[in-house]
Amino acid sequence: MGKSFSELLITMPQIKISKIIRSKRKSLALAISSDATLIVRAPMKTSLEYIEKIVAQKSDWIARKMREIQRWPKAIEKKFIAGEEFSYLGEKYQLEITESLKIKLNKNSDCKELFFPKVFLWRAKERMFGWYKKQALQEISSRAETIAQKLNLNYQSIKISSAKTNWGSCGPKNSLNFNWRLIMAPESVIEYVIIHELTHILEKNHSRKFWNKVEAVMPEYKKRRKWLRENGKMLVL
Ligand SMILES: [Zn+2]
Repeated sequence: MGKSFSELLITMPQIKISKIIRSKRKSLALAISSDATLIVRAPMKTSLEYIEKIVAQKSDWIARKMREIQRWPKAIEKKFIAGEEFSYLGEKYQLEITESLKIKLNKNSDCKELFFPKVFLWRAKERMFGWYKKQALQEISSRAETIAQKLNLNYQSIKISSAKTNWGSCGPKNSLNFNWRLIMAPESVIEYVIIHELTHILEKNHSRKFWNKVEAVMPEYKKRRKWLRENGKMLVL
């Protein structure tokens, strides 16, 4: 008895389930969140015993995924020193402190630069946030307009949000919200979030039907979603 118990410990490392989300879904799904915790999605009546059994069976896969996520790069808070890198539409720009009064991008040279006024330094983060937010509204609105036109969809309005976790949302009256941090992501990723929210005009859920519609517009959407999952944490100031 003692022997089989120790064997059990070796083959089934303790894996903590952080959250169990029950819904009308038909099957069990395991997901590792970006902070390397395990989330289980389960049908309403699934027993905890069954969930624990499946988690134990999948423990190798779960442990591997958790290790993978722990290896992801961690975001570093910006210090606003010359040469520091800032992302804009997926490109890296080096910070250059200038005498001017406006934040500006220099896209021409081999070395892409972000000109940042010296007079803004005492409120650097706030100024940078304001600029990013303004740019996000411009860049996301123009893309959303083009894509919506192509798909023949009408949205009510576009707002830029500072939500902690959501990249975008679509309200009941089809008003769209996009996170300002998207302005740092590659264009293909921004387009994915736009297509995702526009598709919610047709499907107010994340059903198979919804994902099929997203896929019809952007066949490689899973890649973009994966990019956000893995790199989203890095898109901070
Ligand atoms: Zn959605």
